[in-house]
Amino acid sequence: MHTSCVLLASLCLPIAVTGQSLQDLLTRAERSNYEETSTYDDVMGFLNAVAEASPLIQLTTFGTTVEGRAMPLAIVGHVDGTSPEAVLATGKTRVYIQGNIHAGEVCGKEAMQMFLRDVAQGQHAELFDSLVLLINPIYNADGNERFDVNNRPRQHGPVRGMGQRPNAQGYDLNRDHMKLDSPEARALVGLMNSYDPHVGIDLHTTNGTRHGYHLTYAPPLHPNTDPAILSLLESEWLVSAGEHLLEKSGWYSYDYGGVGRRGEPAWRTFDYRPRFNNNYIGLRNRFAILSEAYAYATFEERVLATKYFVEGTLEFARRNASEIRRRTEEADARKITGTELAVRAQPKRSAEPVEILLGEVDEETNPYSDRTILRRRDVVRRETMYEYIEFEASETERVPVAYFVPAEATQVLEKLAAHGVQYTSLASPLRLSVQVFRIDSTTTAERAFQQHNERQVFGRYRQDNRTLPAGTAVVRTEQPLGRLVFGLLEPRSSDGLLNWNVLDSLLEDATEYPILRTVLPFIGFP
Ligand SMILES: [Zn+2]
Repeated sequence: MHTSCVLLASLCLPIAVTGQSLQDLLTRAERSNYEETSTYDDVMGFLNAVAEASPLIQLTTFGTTVEGRAMPLAIVGHVDGTSPEAVLATGKTRVYIQGNIHAGEVCGKEAMQMFLRDVAQGQHAELFDSLVLLINPIYNADGNERFDVNNRPRQHGPVRGMGQRPNAQGYDLNRDHMKLDSPEARALVGLMNSYDPHVGIDLHTTNGTRHGYHLTYAPPLHPNTDPAILSLLESEWLVSAGEHLLEKSGWYSYDYGGVGRRGEPAWRTFDYRPRFNNNYIGLRNRFAILSEAYAYATFEERVLATKYFVEGTLEFARRNASEIRRRTEEADARKITGTELAVRAQPKRSAEPVEILLGEVDEETNPYSDRTILRRRDVVRRETMYEYIEFEASETERVPVAYFVPAEATQVLEKLAAHGVQYTSLASPLRLSVQVFRIDSTTTAERAFQQHNERQVFGRYRQDNRTLPAGTAVVRTEQPLGRLVFGLLEPRSSDGLLNWNVLDSLLEDATEYPILRTVLPFIGFP
């Protein structure tokens, strides 16, 4: 008996699928000769069909979108049930894969359905000796349902339209991992806390730039990412996945980037801040891979490039499953207290120029919108230039032993809890020498971004003796999420809770940052 139809009873579509008829099970993209992409109901029907056909695939859900759509999760592997406990009990390496966080970037959604059909037909069986996969092909389900032929107008299809970038609240879900304004991001961090995947893979399509790669990728880019996580990705994993893609298709891949129009040509990546999925997961001491299929390759080629890249990524994970687990444990146990970490960062130029493959495009017309779309030409132009695919600290701060959050900062405490950060509360007042951040000035961005006017404070720490009242929350950095704690609570952090206005009500006329800290060991609580 499959749990899928118990949990998703209302979503089980009346299609009878057996092992033999799986080959007739096509995605909407395949059925329409890649003119269309799957609706939410298409995806749910497909997931139910493959789960019915294979004991390796079970379905559950892990959250609800703004408009009330269940967020599906396919649990793939030898697992007795779909609960976090059942998945954790396998002791295997856990890999979370999501498509469609930007719902116009639909290649991952299609690729993961095809991959699941392969699994249901008996392919990739060797993966499940050492891995359990957690797959959500349609993360931004509400955005997906806002189909329009004018969404992402220059992208090469699907010509009959695709979903929109933001969710139903207008939030870009790939900017929401720190502030957690959306139920989708809340569900994702809930999944990170409960299923604790060792690896997160986020599937996108590129914006704008014209290059010679079918797919580009990125590891976590924040300079505070634990070296045990970063070194494996940078030295072997991503290149190995790219080689798999090349073998399967003859298509090239490289680190994500683009060449700007002004100044010296240089290959530049995007951003280090943990509002982005890959950077956030990296700060949680887990492996993260961003995949970006090339917008001007045909839709079919983008789907296949994404599928082959994911397969190459999983093949590496299979061969290195225990090493991946060992490294996350090493990162979780590493002491960062007392070290200097970045609160802000800047792009770092490569030591030497590198060879970049640039590309060209032809203009075509989308017959359904009459608008110009671009299609990659099968040529590459090799150019040598510096690249900026890493970041270095531009401002650092010492990691304290603990932060002290006043009990009235309820929104701060609520966000910390949602992220899975551990803290305790003082049972009685505590007299302590602490560091107080004296605020010299504060600025808020004139233009709203993600419905926020991002805030910055300027000032410096001073040592002072204070009595912390009972109820004050004590957040230690010596915990697995220590790097995230630092990024959320440091007042100068470029992506912290202060930046996202969570502390605004406590900052009115304030001369000091309401969250205190200590760099010295202390006793006396709870
Ligand atoms: Zn995207």
